[in-house]
Amino acid sequence: MNLTSDFKWGIALFNRFPKRINFLDTTLRDGEQTPGISLTPENKLLIAQRLDELRIDVIEAGFAAVSEGELEAVSLIARQGLKAEVASAGRGTKNDIDAVIKSGAQTISMIIPTSDLHITYKLRKTRDEILKATEDCVTYAKAHGLKVDLLAEDATRSDFDYLLKVFQTAETCGVDRVTPCDTVGILTPERAYEFFTKLTDSIKVPVGVHCHNDFGMAVASTVAALGAGAQEVHGTINGLGERAGNAAIEEIVVTLHSLYQQQLHIKTELLYGTSQLVSRLTGIYPQPNKAVVGENAFTHESGIHTQGMLANPLTYEPIAPELVGCTRRIASGKHSGSHAIKANLDSMGINPDEEQFKEILQRIKELGDKGKTVTDADVLAIAEKVMGLSGFKPIKLQEMIFVGGDPVTATASVRLCINGKDACGAATGVGPVDATINAVKRAIKENEPIKLEQYNVKAITGGTDAKVEVLVRMCKGGRIVTAMGTREDIVKASVDAVISCMNVLLTDYRDENNNNTKRL
Ligand code: MN
Repeated sequence: MNLTSDFKWGIALFNRFPKRINFLDTTLRDGEQTPGISLTPENKLLIAQRLDELRIDVIEAGFAAVSEGELEAVSLIARQGLKAEVASAGRGTKNDIDAVIKSGAQTISMIIPTSDLHITYKLRKTRDEILKATEDCVTYAKAHGLKVDLLAEDATRSDFDYLLKVFQTAETCGVDRVTPCDTVGILTPERAYEFFTKLTDSIKVPVGVHCHNDFGMAVASTVAALGAGAQEVHGTINGLGERAGNAAIEEIVVTLHSLYQQQLHIKTELLYGTSQLVSRLTGIYPQPNKAVVGENAFTHESGIHTQGMLANPLTYEPIAPELVGCTRRIASGKHSGSHAIKANLDSMGINPDEEQFKEILQRIKELGDKGKTVTDADVLAIAEKVMGLSGFKPIKLQEMIFVGGDPVTATASVRLCINGKDACGAATGVGPVDATINAVKRAIKENEPIKLEQYNVKAITGGTDAKVEVLVRMCKGGRIVTAMGTREDIVKASVDAVISCMNVLLTDYRDENNNNTKRL
């Protein structure tokens, strides 16, 4: 079904989309310039490999001239034989171009400023000097076998005729692509459309679009530029980047696919996983309400929405979660309607009668009214209490020991009771929490395909004796549930939350076994 089939206004405007839209991902370069992010070469490689699976055309792997580590990272990625073209950024200087040559990257993203503001104040040069540098640098890079993408910095605040002169000079020197950069994010869709229409009419080589998100317009302006004939998107996963970030690749992909019906070669079903990987390795998680990959992007809580959604997902779900490799979640809380809670209980094999159900709903709303996050573990506990169910928990924690980390490796061992039987597990991790959770996973022998999707910590009081609240979200076979652990100790709170979450996932009152649960 076409999402916009009954809404045809404005479609004549963006009528110059190219046949093939190329994607350049700069998560590892512009994205890494996000304050607080610094990726090791190994972690950069993990992200590059995932981007390659996603079918990104060009991976900008770093800025070779910046440091030894950066040079190493770019050259590590360039050596992998990825399908994607590997690029390194570099300024218009011989030193930077040499570093890119040394790295083994195929392409240089050659950054040359074109606005008077940048030329005069940052470089203390003249327009003519920049023109000459462009000629020299493109010629030099081409003579050394590099592909050249000329990135005109602050292009959108440059004198247009001068910008054109720079690009045309680069063209005569054999440049492969040119990309005007909206360095401070001042483009709007209509300006982008006009700018890129004029530019693509005057330039023969492919034109890229590189937008920043200072006004929240990066994705919209990027799409408008493509609709005007630009051929290559520059963006980052999760919209990472300096200040307010770059255009978010996942949003551009989904918008082009779903709202503009463009045929793309991107493996959309890998978008969510890629976003999660980037969040984990950078330590920067998107806001919960972030489009496409935020933790609430496919979560429904309010009664009206879940009712419509359960009848037909299209009512409130313009993007099918499967499109981006995510799963729909129905959250419980004070906004919950009976449909959502019923569906939730049904997945655990719990079928209350009308009276019981009213009482369950009432108690859930009371909990929500107290300002508490209502987790699926809470819903289960309430239902068990109201209906007098056994409340049997398949997994119980008997014992746990942990030591570490720095300078010793964090190590943990746990003893669980699983359906009445002892089960032990030991593991290491990057810290005590990680080690202990790994040990729990090992104790259940990992024969349950349960995945930890999300892990959040908050302290609920102020001092060093603060209670720590850990909220986890786990997934098994397309079902996502949440649970919370509250303790003074972060490791214990984490283990509580994880075990309680696993117990919700394993609880099924339909099972004929006495223990009311599916066997491990
Ligand atoms: Mn940039």
